Amino acid sequence: FSTATAAVEEPISPPVQINYTKLLINGQFVDSASGKTFPTLDPRTGEVIAHVAEGDTEDINRAVSAARKAFDEGPWPKMPAYERARVLLRFADLVEKHSDELAALETWDNGKTYEQAAKAELPTFVRIFHYYAGWADKIHGLTVPADGAHHVQILHEPIGVAGQIIPWNFPLLMFAWKIGPALATGNTVVLKTAEQTPLTALYVAKLFHEAGLPPGVLNVISGYGPTAGAALASHMDVDKLAFTGSTDTGKIVLELAAKSNLKPVTLELGGKSPFIVCEDADIDKAVEEAHFALFFNQGQCCCAGSRTFVHERVYDEFLEKAKARALRRTVGDPFRKGVEQGPQIDSEQFDKVLRYIRSGVDSNATLECGGERIGSKGFFIQPTVFSNVQDNMLIAKDEIFGPVQSILKFKDLDEVIRRANATRYGLAAGVYTKNIDTANTLSRGLRAGTVWINCFDVFDAAIPFGGYKMSGHGREKGFYSLQNYLQVKAVVTPLKNPAW
Ligand code: NAD
Repeated sequence: FSTATAAVEEPISPPVQINYTKLLINGQFVDSASGKTFPTLDPRTGEVIAHVAEGDTEDINRAVSAARKAFDEGPWPKMPAYERARVLLRFADLVEKHSDELAALETWDNGKTYEQAAKAELPTFVRIFHYYAGWADKIHGLTVPADGAHHVQILHEPIGVAGQIIPWNFPLLMFAWKIGPALATGNTVVLKTAEQTPLTALYVAKLFHEAGLPPGVLNVISGYGPTAGAALASHMDVDKLAFTGSTDTGKIVLELAAKSNLKPVTLELGGKSPFIVCEDADIDKAVEEAHFALFFNQGQCCCAGSRTFVHERVYDEFLEKAKARALRRTVGDPFRKGVEQGPQIDSEQFDKVLRYIRSGVDSNATLECGGERIGSKGFFIQPTVFSNVQDNMLIAKDEIFGPVQSILKFKDLDEVIRRANATRYGLAAGVYTKNIDTANTLSRGLRAGTVWINCFDVFDAAIPFGGYKMSGHGREKGFYSLQNYLQVKAVVTPLKNPAW
């Protein structure tokens, strides 16, 4: 099944039906206030999968009111934490039961391979909810020994109504990263999905209610960014905002939050992550991992290893093998077994990636392989490798978000640390070496929220993830993510008898 012909094959019929296309507000599926809908497209063909209710300001207002009421009147924030944990666990069980359909829906709406969705993303989704269910009844405050005769308690309280805006590249996992910590800590939520991928969040939100989530605790709004997203970011009754997407949009939502009610904002934005192959690395493993680091999920990962720095002594060998690996990559219908790469998400991203490929050629990087679309339908792009990439080229500076590997040469560690850090981003980095001192030097020197050594894209629920610099504010997953959803209250009481 070759790269050149793959996309031409007849698309496989997805083994799932679409049952949920309305907005979920206060536990009910409802039409948008305007009655408007928008199409969500199949990236394999560009054809319409379904028309989905298009939320706007009025729907956001309705959803925020429901979330406010569910927070202020309870029972969610006030119920025993163990009961909240049990809802999360029942939800995880239901998702597990419906994993096959959910994986199919995710593949259909997003274009990622069914194998990836079914074998990696759905189990990870379930694991994340188990992880946060485990936290729910272990969130507690402190007592602090202060000067003077005072008893000081520090309470950790839920922050209130959380607004959450997620992107299209991992619709279910982004849902889990956002909803898990928010609900475990007792908050209520209005979540806006990406307009490209509204379907799976509605499905799992339905399962959440089957699991016993009270109405109003989780509201899901499908719709566009500048309308529904902006209304959520600037809402006066939203107490906290969490956003994942592009750095440019991150700046907009931060401004909207500041101009409205100064709600705190966590941001998970773009990246241009270095993947550094040292001269002592196991080259075959490094080639495979660097390939995975970039091409995974059609190259549509915020932390993609999109600058592959290779030591000059192993550069030629690495390049030859990296090119051979890219040429072996199977592209095609993501429902087909054995396919490694499906289509890009939509025509906008598809055009953008092809523009970057042209810019690489125009700036005299060497196009080793790929560079073209595949077929004439849908958004398939050949796995593409550039060598002789220089730091100042656009393909080495901008986030391409597509299957385009840029290979750069380096001489020594100080130089590669300086060059790897010479970016506005700081999300992640990969290092391949067998030398512990080299690994330590690089992991301390790289300004990035995650450094993977002899591995990449390890996303355990317990490992915090987030960016330095313009890759974002705050951390998701792990213990740190809970802090985004908690207020800290100091309660001070005079002590009658200080000796006690
Ligand atoms: P985006 O930032 O435009 O969209 C992300 C989310 O923000 C979507 O839900 C969108 O509807 C919403 N949004 C857009 N404009 C908004 C506004 N004015 N106010 C409030 N919400 C708004 O990203 P995109 O268009 O989906 O992709 C563009 C680029 O973003 C990609 O090429 C990539 O560089 C980056 N991206 C990063 C991630 C990540 O995980 N960090 C994910 C997807 C995309």
